[in-house]
Amino acid sequence: MTAVDLVQAIKKGLLDLLFPPRCVGCREVGSLLCAKCRDEFELVEPPLCPHCGRPRPSDRLCPLCQRDPLQIDGIRSVAYFDGTLREAIHRFKYYNLQDLAIPLGKLMGDYWEKSPLPAEIVVPVPLHPDRLRERGYNQAALLARELGKSIGLPVSENGLVRVRATRPQVDLTAQERKENVSDAFRCSNTELKEKRILLIDDVCTTGATLEACSIALRQVGARSVWAFTLARAR
Ligand SMILES: [Zn+2]
Ligand SMILES: [Zn+2]
Repeated sequence: MTAVDLVQAIKKGLLDLLFPPRCVGCREVGSLLCAKCRDEFELVEPPLCPHCGRPRPSDRLCPLCQRDPLQIDGIRSVAYFDGTLREAIHRFKYYNLQDLAIPLGKLMGDYWEKSPLPAEIVVPVPLHPDRLRERGYNQAALLARELGKSIGLPVSENGLVRVRATRPQVDLTAQERKENVSDAFRCSNTELKEKRILLIDDVCTTGATLEACSIALRQVGARSVWAFTLARAR
């Protein structure tokens, strides 16, 4: 431990004493996400569409993938974007609760232990530089770092860039989302060429953002692109 690390650790210890962490779900003192609230997350469990990862009555391709399949190789998510997980992600993104990356990243690591995906390098979905400046951090990059550490894969944070600021996707239809993010990403990093990429984001809604990223990654010759998100909208 360096002197700087030591000072940081002491500072954090003092802050925890003065302002002990509280669970974002039940407000209980002790940690940012208590075990009880974490156990209440509803996991996205099989059977799933093998391609887009939507829950299905059987593990056959869903109607959307039969009709208009995404180019991305596949999408998987840990839990539904509801209740406490939704609240946790909201605080993680908008209230500077960056330490939530540790328990949230661990959920992704736990999923991976049982259901790993084809991957050689982890790439977070980038924010536009203006948004990054405003927020100070990219929540997807924080998750990617935690996951990368736990599964032993390198993380490329500059490989993919968002070249166009996009509107928030919240109130858009599926078609509008697709148009909103199309051509929003560029990849110029040759280290991603021929690689099996694992794309990381906090939430998957229609998959439009992940698809736009995967198209940019394919353009530089990525061998495969799988996406893995913490949460998934129903
Ligand atoms: Zn709790
Ligand atoms: Zn599907």
